[in-house]
Amino acid sequence: NLNIRVQVPARDEMGSLATAINELAVDLGRYRDSRSEFFASISHELRTPMAYLEGYTHVLKEGLYESEQEKERYLDIIHKEAVRLTRLIEDLFALSKMEEGKISLDLEWIDLAEVIEHSLKKVELNLKSKGLNLSVGIPASVPLVYADGLRMEQIYMNLLDNAIRYTEAGNIDVQVSTAEPDRVITVIEDSGIGIPAEELPYIFERFYRVEKSRSRERGGTGLGLAIVKKLVNIQGGSIQVSSSLGQGTRFEIVWFTGGSKYP
Ligand code: ADP
Repeated sequence: NLNIRVQVPARDEMGSLATAINELAVDLGRYRDSRSEFFASISHELRTPMAYLEGYTHVLKEGLYESEQEKERYLDIIHKEAVRLTRLIEDLFALSKMEEGKISLDLEWIDLAEVIEHSLKKVELNLKSKGLNLSVGIPASVPLVYADGLRMEQIYMNLLDNAIRYTEAGNIDVQVSTAEPDRVITVIEDSGIGIPAEELPYIFERFYRVEKSRSRERGGTGLGLAIVKKLVNIQGGSIQVSSSLGQGTRFEIVWFTGGSKYP
């Protein structure tokens, strides 16, 4: 959404009108650039899996493989790229709905402990198959948060999924803290590859990836954190990240409880 506010100056302020118009033109230029950059990114992101699909279906159709094993490998690639394409389209759709303010939230009083435990159950297999340790600290009673349960789960699923994908060995730590009044703080921390300090400010941007090829290999679309941030913000929370390269990454989300434990 672009809001343009024009203030008409007095006669003797024509100079400042000229400056204002100039500034507006610069802003519009930037807006146009970021939009066309966005569309360029989308078409690039869609084109890549399409190219794989086209290439490997051609190979299979023409019988250009040397063994059944090779054929299976190509089929696997086709399947993986199709899954990625579906995810990409779903993520793009979700993001554009949120950006247009068209997302409807199903708000109710939510128990964050339940949301997090549910999300952890879903990623349990991935955690185990990578041999990662999980430590969880959730207080016995967590104040309720007024939010959309499914969207909340999406937030934690995305963060946990990233933590697992970008950690080769060690630990994923999930903590819920109720020490501060009127807020619940949740932390998801991993002992993974980390993010270089100079890249940290950009990781919530659409399609921003520290290493494109690494993210692709790990099944990423570059939209997960953009979605997380939007979902957190539209539900009144805030999210912060800190990281050190080679050591791990920590995401902290602050939710407000409105000071009341029960609705
Ligand atoms: P992707 O689908 O590529 O994972 P995201 O939007 O979820 O996209 O994340 C953006 C980028 O931030 C990733 O490509 C990755 O480089 C980096 N990143 C996100 N989470 C982590 C993490 N837990 N550890 C290290 N790097 C991360």
